[in-house]
Amino acid sequence: MLNSDKLINLRQTYLSPSMSLSYNEPLNIVKGKGQFLYELNGKKYLDCVNNIQHVGHCHPKVVEASYKQSKILNTNTRYLNSLIIEYAKELTDTLPEGLDVCFFTNSGSEANDLALRIARYITQSKETIILEDAYHGNLTSLIEISPYKYNGKGGDGPPKFVHTIPRPDNFRGKYRGNNTGDKYANEVKKIVKKIQNDRNTFPVFFVEPLMGCAGQLIFPNGFLKQAFDIVRKAGGVCIADEIQIGFGRVGSHFWGFESEEVIPDIVTMGKSMGNGHPLSAVITTKEIADSFNNGMEYFNSFGGNPVSCSVGKAVLSVIKTEGLQENAKVSGAYLFKKLSDLKSKHKLIGDVRGRGLFIGIELIKGDDLSPATVEANQIINKMKDIGILLSTDGPDQNVIKIKPPMVFTIENANHLFESIDKLIELL
Ligand code: PMP
Repeated sequence: MLNSDKLINLRQTYLSPSMSLSYNEPLNIVKGKGQFLYELNGKKYLDCVNNIQHVGHCHPKVVEASYKQSKILNTNTRYLNSLIIEYAKELTDTLPEGLDVCFFTNSGSEANDLALRIARYITQSKETIILEDAYHGNLTSLIEISPYKYNGKGGDGPPKFVHTIPRPDNFRGKYRGNNTGDKYANEVKKIVKKIQNDRNTFPVFFVEPLMGCAGQLIFPNGFLKQAFDIVRKAGGVCIADEIQIGFGRVGSHFWGFESEEVIPDIVTMGKSMGNGHPLSAVITTKEIADSFNNGMEYFNSFGGNPVSCSVGKAVLSVIKTEGLQENAKVSGAYLFKKLSDLKSKHKLIGDVRGRGLFIGIELIKGDDLSPATVEANQIINKMKDIGILLSTDGPDQNVIKIKPPMVFTIENANHLFESIDKLIELL
């Protein structure tokens, strides 16, 4: 196998320079198992960031499901096949009643693009409301609704039909402290009114119910519920992007939106859905699916093929049989408590937030809460050196993201928080 220096050189020759590598000294990972990754030299890493490998790297039941079905048949959705029906039923059984019609796609971006198309078709409106710092995918249609990209390097702002609500962040956002939910919801009201006055049309509200790339953000109480009510009263459609947060990660519920006590009109899911296999979906109501059925066929070469459905079924089965949602709840609550306790010890830790195994540590400097971006980068690189993988995110890259495979244990949590504690002390 090639060493890191050779691989970096070859990447520069053969891969797009727009693709990045993690860490100051990139890792040459050759093996994964459970919540661990292994480098070429045999060094073992505790993976606290790979949410896609939801039930653990290379889970034998998921690998077996893929291999077994690949040997039998892999076609497309134009043939009758029981696997797709079984999988659609199992998936929709995890969702509130009414959300029971599936479209299968291959990536989170593809699912979000389709959801956007459905919502814009049924409202006959392009006016889309999004949250500041949101990320919804890498397609042209989604860069347009992703401030994380269009406000970042190389971005050129939103189109006129995209309306941004200030990031609902009671720690460093426009409105701070307790009871800010109403104030952020009022921002939604203002935009909805503007859409009605200026364009005389309906809003499409695209939202991640707990925000990942925006810095592991949990909304102020009541914000999302009020925002959904406002949009619905105006005849609009609410889409929940569950691509980073779904499938039991939040512990208390299977879906992130449930923990915010809302029910979307359209849900998108991906990433963890196939444990690394490219599998995603859009799920909506029969009424919306029927309205969208205007004669134009929806065909997808790969989406919903028998191998993908076998993999997806295996992932759902492992989540259930291994009690992974419950594990996310218990291990996540334990880690959250331990990290929260560190807040009083280290001034650098401004905020610890999260649900289940979706946790963020926001690092700040001084009383003006300025972002400790350099320190966050130092910490994740030093943690990597001692065998723990984390990443940073948020508009200022000062939030340490924790979203490990769901097999993460209390022992892993102890290892993680003890290491962060020691490292911050030495900074
Ligand atoms: N939505 C959210 C919330 C995401 O986090 C991502 C990926 N980071 C996407 C959409 C896009 O998914 P994909 O990379 O599978 O296209």
